[in-house]
Amino acid sequence: MNSFTVRLNFHGDLPFFVRSKRRHEIIERGLAEKPSVKDVIESCGVPHPEVDLILINGEPVDFHHTLGANVDVDVYPVGFLPTFVTNKRLQITHFNKFVSDVHLGRLSRSLRLLGLDVAYLSAAEDRQLLKAMQRENRALLTRDRRLLMHAVVQNGYYLRSQYATEQTIEVIRRFDLLRSIAPFTRCLRCNAPLEKVSKAEIMEKLKPLTKIYYEEFRRCSGCGQIYWPGSHFSKLQKRIAELHAQFSKSAA
Ligand SMILES: [Zn+2]
Repeated sequence: MNSFTVRLNFHGDLPFFVRSKRRHEIIERGLAEKPSVKDVIESCGVPHPEVDLILINGEPVDFHHTLGANVDVDVYPVGFLPTFVTNKRLQITHFNKFVSDVHLGRLSRSLRLLGLDVAYLSAAEDRQLLKAMQRENRALLTRDRRLLMHAVVQNGYYLRSQYATEQTIEVIRRFDLLRSIAPFTRCLRCNAPLEKVSKAEIMEKLKPLTKIYYEEFRRCSGCGQIYWPGSHFSKLQKRIAELHAQFSKSAA
């Protein structure tokens, strides 16, 4: 068949991903065959889990839509939809189970501190990450664009910032997690839930000063690690107050 041209317009912060110096302009692509719209979007550098709405000549389509000649493609990220209502959204807005890639140890810890469920294996290969993601129905957190483009990824997010504090805010915002925050409920080491435990039960494991100063304890249901308010609590409460302040600022 003859070659033809399509025009892509990436909205919101999607131009961040586009591999072109003129990323804020409409991109023209010459095509020789009829690919899916997903393939063409990813060939521009934009991973499909970042795309929440695709319009072709103004009509919403899904990722498998085959591109025809001479069309205009509008691509929108989560949280930046056009004003008219459409139910053809491609992403789930609220998600509360994650798997993070090996470079995101600090982010994983930060999210667990807030009680969020984050599988993290410091030595996992990509293949193992994707398996855990599928098996446990988790959303993938990564700064590896190729990994996020993998065909088996349904829910995922590319961290814009390199810093754990900002990344934490990004994840809370993207997956609508402010109401899911439950500090002091999840093990920082192994991600298992913490359960209340009586002081008497763990008395012999405590250091002398801890025995004197603390009365409330929680124990990890996975690895047995013991937690008490003194170890992380005041810092954590400050952190949560900061997060709430941040979100009320951005909502204003
Ligand atoms: Zn644990």
